[in-house]
Amino acid sequence: MEYAIEIEGISKRYGDVQALQQIDLRVGKGEIMGLIGPDGAGKSTLYRILTTLLLPDEGSASLNGYDIVKDYRHLRQILGYMPGRFSLYQDLTVEENLEFFATIFGTTIKENYHLIEEIYVQLEPFKDRQAGNLSGGMKQKLALCCALIHKPEILLLDEPTTGVDPVSRQEFWQMLKRLNTENITILVSTPYMDEAAMCDRVALIQSGEILTTSTPANIRTEYQGQLLSLKSQDMYHLLKTTRSLDGVMSCYSFGERLHVTIDPETSNLEMVQSALSTKGISKVEIKPIEAGVEDIFMQLLKRSDA
Ligand code: ADP
Repeated sequence: MEYAIEIEGISKRYGDVQALQQIDLRVGKGEIMGLIGPDGAGKSTLYRILTTLLLPDEGSASLNGYDIVKDYRHLRQILGYMPGRFSLYQDLTVEENLEFFATIFGTTIKENYHLIEEIYVQLEPFKDRQAGNLSGGMKQKLALCCALIHKPEILLLDEPTTGVDPVSRQEFWQMLKRLNTENITILVSTPYMDEAAMCDRVALIQSGEILTTSTPANIRTEYQGQLLSLKSQDMYHLLKTTRSLDGVMSCYSFGERLHVTIDPETSNLEMVQSALSTKGISKVEIKPIEAGVEDIFMQLLKRSDA
C-alpha cells in the first residue's frame, strides 16, 4: 500500500505529562482513518505535530512524502486542518471567512468551488451572517469548507463532531465519505465510538499510546470472551452481584443495561442466570450480544492497565 501519512516513534512531553509515547501509525492514500480515544489521550497533540505547529521530542513523520520538519512550508499547502476548537474568525461573515482562507492559500472560492459546493449550498442563505452567530453544526460546516478551499491532498480533522447534534454529525460523515471519493486522505479524531464504523480503519489511542489499529469489522473479532447484556429493576444490586460471580471477566454499566463478559470455557448464559437466581435476583432480562467498539475499547484499556 502507498502511504499518505507515515508516523514513526513520535513522542511529546509537556513538563511532567507524557502526551505521546512512541507513536507509530500509517495511513494509506485515500483512506479514512479514525483516531479514537477519550479526552487527554493525545489526539490534538498529534494533530499539532502533523500540521507542523508543534515539534516532537523524538520520532519523525511525513505526509505524502514531505517531512514535518524539513518540508513544513510545502506541507502547509497540501494539508487541510480543522482544529478542535473553531478556527473561524467570529466577527467575519461566512463568506468573508471563506474568502480569507482562500486568499491566504493564493486561491479563490471559485477555483475549488466544486469541492465545497454540496456543503456550501447549506451555508449560502447565511453567507452574510457573522460566523460567531452560527449554530454549532453550521460553524462546523463552514470550518470544513475553509479547510478544503485550497484543495488539500490530506485532511486532518480534530474532533470535528464534538458537541454537534446527531443529525449534523451524520451529515458531516456523509460529506467526508464524498470527499474521500475525490481521493483526499482523511485522518479524523473523535471521542464517539459509534463513528468508528464510518472509517476504513481505526486506531485506538489512550494515554499517548496506540492500543490497536484495525478495521472496524476486524476489531470486533479481537474481543475475548462472550458478551451478555443484562437488565433488571435494581441495576445497582445486579451490578454488584454479577461482579462477584465465577466466570465473569468484566461487568460495567452501559446506558440502561449491564455489559457482562464471561469466559465461555467456564460459564454460559444459563449458568449466570441460575447463579443470579440463587443470590435472589430472578427477574433478569439477559441476552447474548455482539461487542461494539466501546466494549472492545474497554477491554483493551483493561488489558493495557494490567
Ligand atoms: P486529546 O486531544 O486527546 O484530548 P491532548 O493532546 O489535548 O489530548 O492532551 C494530551 C495530554 O497532554 C493531556 O494530559 C493534556 O492535559 C496535556 N496537554 C495538552 N496540551 C498541553 C500544554 N500545552 N501544556 C501542558 N499539557 C498539555
